[in-house]
Amino acid sequence: MQKNILIIGAGIAGCSLAHFLANSDWDVTLIESKDNIAQGGSGNPVAAIYPKFMLNDEAYNDFMLRSFRFTTDWISQLGLNKEDFRFDGAIEILEETYTKKLEINLSKKITSKEDFFSLINKSILSKYSIERNSSGFLFHQGGWINPIALCKQLTNHSNIKIITHQKIKSIEKLIDGWTLKTEDKKTLNSSHVAICNAYSVNQFDLTQHLYTDAFRGQVNWITSTSFSMPPIVTCDEGYLAPLIHDKHVFGATYAMNDFFKDLRTSDTKKNIASIKGIHRKFYNYCETQKSIPGRVAWRASTKDRKPYVGQVFDNQLFKKMRVRELARADQLPWLKNLYIASGFGSRGFTFAPYCASVLANLINGNLSQEDKETLNYTNPERYRLKKMSLKKVASQIYKV
Ligand SMILES: Cc1cc2nc3c(=O)[nH]c(=O)nc-3n(C[C@H](O)[C@H](O)[C@H](O)COP(=O)(O)OP(=O)(O)OC[C@H]3O[C@@H](n4cnc5c(N)ncnc54)[C@H](O)[C@@H]3O)c2cc1C
Repeated sequence: MQKNILIIGAGIAGCSLAHFLANSDWDVTLIESKDNIAQGGSGNPVAAIYPKFMLNDEAYNDFMLRSFRFTTDWISQLGLNKEDFRFDGAIEILEETYTKKLEINLSKKITSKEDFFSLINKSILSKYSIERNSSGFLFHQGGWINPIALCKQLTNHSNIKIITHQKIKSIEKLIDGWTLKTEDKKTLNSSHVAICNAYSVNQFDLTQHLYTDAFRGQVNWITSTSFSMPPIVTCDEGYLAPLIHDKHVFGATYAMNDFFKDLRTSDTKKNIASIKGIHRKFYNYCETQKSIPGRVAWRASTKDRKPYVGQVFDNQLFKKMRVRELARADQLPWLKNLYIASGFGSRGFTFAPYCASVLANLINGNLSQEDKETLNYTNPERYRLKKMSLKKVASQIYKV
């Protein structure tokens, strides 16, 4: 088998996939429309990594836990510079009743929960310089990473070629591979393709049914302050990061399908308000600043919050098939050698590395039981199957 792949999009999804495949002897070409890697959603100065659980969604929580454990272990072993990541805890402030209910759920799910989380108490609040009396969790392995440093580290491999300033316009299937055309009318050929281009995933004919919303998000930052600040990531309505490369980053805003590229003063104000409950002195300090720098980017979110990771159908075969034929998971008309990793929402730095490792196992024909469970969960064709009342098939594309 030829082992060459073109990966479209050099954010955390594309860079992680490139890394896993390069390490299993694939020749990888990573194509990015911007002037460098990690310039889209993955280009913020810091990303918080902690397990954001839901109260009533067990499958989501399992996926979150799996992703969080994989990603934090894996990042810790990558050899990243110590200034570019830390997993020394993350605090999530939550309403008291919500905290109690979530704790009951998590206690059933997580063995040795004491190592995994503590409920916030007075001593934790005082240790981490949080002024308001709050409830919530301290996740002991939570933390943060420098996204650009991580993406650079992942793609620093002799099997990975990076092409920037090239926007892919079309993907065409050949008898024995794929041809990609760029906006500048250049042509690239390969045996395999992976689409990791966030909210643009539906730009191609083959994937136009993969809907995502683009959520504009703005973060802001303040350079060092003269007072004591929380030394770990703290999340309330917004999050406040410790001093990382001379910046305390805080935010972030959410606005659906809003494509305004510049910083908005009104969003800076929202971000300041969102950390009021974490640190009053910092909040007051931000309020006195004339202008506060920041950055705008977009998250790609699916309606059900699950990413799209896996394969898509061959549209021509799909249209010809009857519902009863599609009801057999072993007969689904998968398009060969084309893969998707998109729709990571606001948790891309927890989900994408894990999902990229599963996708690399799929590409290498090396799936574990757990990988299959994950691909059943993230099946990119779930909406088309559900529309045909094939919900069960959508979540059982692999036998586990
Ligand atoms: C303000 C904000 C704060 C966030 N904070 C956190 C956080 O604290 N923790 C966390 O885990 N997540 C956070 N996220 C979410 C996280 O950043 C995303 O989930 C993640 O970056 C998605 O990675 P990606 O690789 O899928 O997409 P991206 O990083 O957006 O990468 C996609 C790339 O594809 C390129 N591309 C698109 N189309 C083409 C084409 N046709 N040809 C070539 N290239 C193309 C784009 O230029 C882009 O570089 C935040 C997001 C935002 C916006």
